Amino acid sequence: MPDSFDLIVIGSGPGGYICAIRAAQLGMKVACVEKRATLGGTCLNIGCIPSKALLQSSEEYWHTAHGLKDHGVIVDGVKLDLARMQARRAEVVTANVKGVEFLFRKNKVTWLKGTGRITGPGKVDVDGTEYETKNIVIATGSESMPLPGVEVDEKHIVTSTGGLELDKVPGHLVVIGGGYIGLELGSVWRRLGSEVTVVEFLDRIIPNMDGEISKSFERLLTRQGMKFRLGTKVTGARKGNDGVTLSIEPAKGGAAEELKADVVLLSIGRRAYTEGVGAGVGLDERGRVQTGAHYATNVPGIYAIGDCIAGPMLAHKAEDEGVAVAEIIAGQAGHVNYGAIPGVVYTWPEVASVGQTEEELKAAGAAYNVGKFPFAANGRARAMGETDGFVKLLADKATDRLLGAHIIGPEAGTLISELTMAIEFGASAEDVARMCHPHPTLEEAVKEAALAVAGRALNM
Ligand SMILES: Cc1cc2nc3c(=O)[nH]c(=O)nc-3n(C[C@H](O)[C@H](O)[C@H](O)COP(=O)(O)OP(=O)(O)OC[C@H]3O[C@@H](n4cnc5c(N)ncnc54)[C@H](O)[C@@H]3O)c2cc1C
Repeated sequence: MPDSFDLIVIGSGPGGYICAIRAAQLGMKVACVEKRATLGGTCLNIGCIPSKALLQSSEEYWHTAHGLKDHGVIVDGVKLDLARMQARRAEVVTANVKGVEFLFRKNKVTWLKGTGRITGPGKVDVDGTEYETKNIVIATGSESMPLPGVEVDEKHIVTSTGGLELDKVPGHLVVIGGGYIGLELGSVWRRLGSEVTVVEFLDRIIPNMDGEISKSFERLLTRQGMKFRLGTKVTGARKGNDGVTLSIEPAKGGAAEELKADVVLLSIGRRAYTEGVGAGVGLDERGRVQTGAHYATNVPGIYAIGDCIAGPMLAHKAEDEGVAVAEIIAGQAGHVNYGAIPGVVYTWPEVASVGQTEEELKAAGAAYNVGKFPFAANGRARAMGETDGFVKLLADKATDRLLGAHIIGPEAGTLISELTMAIEFGASAEDVARMCHPHPTLEEAVKEAALAVAGRALNM
């Protein structure tokens, strides 16, 4: 007789595994179903972690080859060992996925290996064995969005999965899609020597982020040698002996052109993965599991979280939902503040954002003040030789409450946490400005931008 559980989580990505651990902490008997050979989902296996490993390694390579001369450090004969770099990426992934296995053992979470299918309320089939459970959390994640006419083979036309595993630096890499995944992977291969062209349907890159940041980002990436074809759509791809030929044309209509590439990275976004969810669980018009209040689906006892439901497809959003839903099932008041979820692009410089963009505030007819401060006027940034970019804060005109924070510059992904906390705590720009910031740090640019909201920056 197979085991029965208080909770079965389907999927072990950051949403699912964190949910399973939190539920176990709260005293539930928990199982987590995972069909992949290793735990950790997209994030740990083929997403956040391997991409950051390659971003780090490629940055070390680029910096050693090009970034040290100014500091008076001369290094000759810098060479790339791509096989070692890729082996390191794999080692980083293994350490992380093994870490989740350890956490499952520590918290007595059972890993049910195989494909989970909900056969009815309180019933989950895993490769032919049916388990009973009081509650089910669907955390099946997402998959790369396909593009008609562009057939992925993960060798010449790759998704991010193949794009992380190339064993040769492509001569010309064409990235379809100017979102964060395409720009991060484009940066990796650019630093390692590829010519990189980004083709984007819209007239701007990172379309969900603040427009001013997006323009500055495009300029800085262009300076690094990346080329952009904005307002351009890809209508087809033809594979030949000498690479791939893409058919492109202006998004608004116009003459078609051909663009040759050695490798094409298709990264136009991701879509919810819900195969096997079953049991009459309702999906929305975009194929995501439909959830109401408290992550409940239309079927009692079945909940859903992470990339397979609405909201930003980010690991930390999935994790926070995993904690919240476990607490809700345990009768507590789990909650996620969707107004304070940071987003980071881990290129160099980094881009980070939390809260509302200037475009969103304008569209809502909100009255706001803007405070900006460039890293070029920050002592620490000058000492680092990293003066590109700026901090931009948006605060309510009447109350000074912080509404949005947008940073492009060194360590933006770290700097954003202070502002996420400020938004979470309902702080004003003046609260941030009056807080003592250590000197000399990049954080002082945040303080100065907060001062600039009231027109009283001190170092500019
Ligand atoms: C290249 C790349 C880079 C990224 N970088 C970042 C980043 O830097 N920061 C960030 O916040 N986000 C990043 N993301 C996004 C992040 O990976 C996702 O938001 C996150 O993984 C979503 O977590 P999840 O738990 O909802 O789903 P997933 O991580 O997708 O996990 C779902 C799991 O469920 C399993 N599964 C599905 N169906 C079944 C079934 N029926 N039975 C058993 N198992 C099943 C799958 O095998 C998978 O392991 C990146 C994504 C990619 C592709």
